[in-house]
Amino acid sequence: MRSVAVLGATGSIGAQALDVIAARPDLRVCALSAHRDAAGLAAAACATGARLVALSDPDAAADAPEIDGVTTFTGDRAVADLIEASGADLVLNAIVGAAGLRATLAAFAAGADVALANKESLVAGGELVLAAQRASGRLLIPVDSEHSALAQCLAGAGPETVTGLVITASGGPFRGRRREELAGVTAAEALAHPTWSMGRKITIDSATLMNKGLEVIEGHHLFAIPYDAIEVVVHPQSIVHGMVRFRDGALLAHVGNPDMRVPISWALTHPAREATVVPTLDLTSALSLEFEPVDAGTFRCLALAREAGIAGGTAPCILNAANEVAVHAFLDGRIGFLDIAAVVEEALERVPAEPLESLEQVLEADRRARAAAAGAGAAAA
Ligand code: NAD
Ligand code: MG
Repeated sequence: MRSVAVLGATGSIGAQALDVIAARPDLRVCALSAHRDAAGLAAAACATGARLVALSDPDAAADAPEIDGVTTFTGDRAVADLIEASGADLVLNAIVGAAGLRATLAAFAAGADVALANKESLVAGGELVLAAQRASGRLLIPVDSEHSALAQCLAGAGPETVTGLVITASGGPFRGRRREELAGVTAAEALAHPTWSMGRKITIDSATLMNKGLEVIEGHHLFAIPYDAIEVVVHPQSIVHGMVRFRDGALLAHVGNPDMRVPISWALTHPAREATVVPTLDLTSALSLEFEPVDAGTFRCLALAREAGIAGGTAPCILNAANEVAVHAFLDGRIGFLDIAAVVEEALERVPAEPLESLEQVLEADRRARAAAAGAGAAAA
């Protein structure tokens, strides 16, 4: 029996993870976190029998659920305290945003394996996460579908045989549009993703292609592959999730229906690859797979992310924090769609990047980038 702490349990990935765990007698939920949704957290605690929960938003502490036999952690250290108290074998980090970095570090410090959906952890503090993982001797298992695919294609491969990684992008709801057509698009249009149903922040990141930029940085850290060997290709069907190029000319692909329960299950049951309810791909019905290059001039966030990744240090943290601020401003209707890239670019210009040494430094770069992005966003509004 493996005990699992599910962080971000009320979100899109969190809820799907609870479904996967409920179907498996060998997995047990020991702890749950949510940020503000006290009712959702209480419902999840009752459904799973978890005895430890955390509500992380300090402003929501007053709403924290009171359930007989359940301990509730609140406040600034709520998630770290929850992880430590839980003694979980595995922590699934499905928190959204750089707020997830401390949780990832806390999970390794507590000696747990980490199933990581929270790509922002690796973007903001990749070196810190990898150092914490090495020190703990535990596993870092990707949940992001592309990285789950890549990890599976890479299994057993000698590093010298690998010449490149390919990350696929659906292209989002604005694939094929020209830049000038995107100035006036609304949040509702950007939230209408063609192939995946996800939380609001990652759905906007998918529309700008920042999500692929974050995933390039995530892939660089997870697989120790140089940036120039990580390609992004648009694949509108979202059937091929990731591919690995090998030196003999072979290209291994991971193919399947777009359903996050597959990579979630792979991470939670690794290395056993247990059964899921997700149907395998039906090859008897008409199926065509298309691939096309990214329109980098229209979707500028991808290049900004790649540049920040190559610059290294705190640059990816600055990029990520500014993007979080810009995405919220766009969702609130305060800035336009094209302003997201402009705000991120301005924050990267205004906040100098430094070599990455400590968590405190990452938190400070994150804070400064948010302030710079808020200023740039207010000017754009
Ligand atoms: P979501 O918005 O649906 O859920 C986010 C969860 O995090 C919620 O439970 C929320 O309460 C919690 N949360 C929000 N802010 C927090 C904070 N400051 N501190 C602690 N907890 C906080 O998001 P999601 O779509 O489930 O995405 C979660 C993570 O997984 C993101 O990093 C995303 O990029 C990644 N991811 C998601 C998908 C997907 O299909 N949804 C796919 C790949 C990767
Ligand atoms: Mg992904």
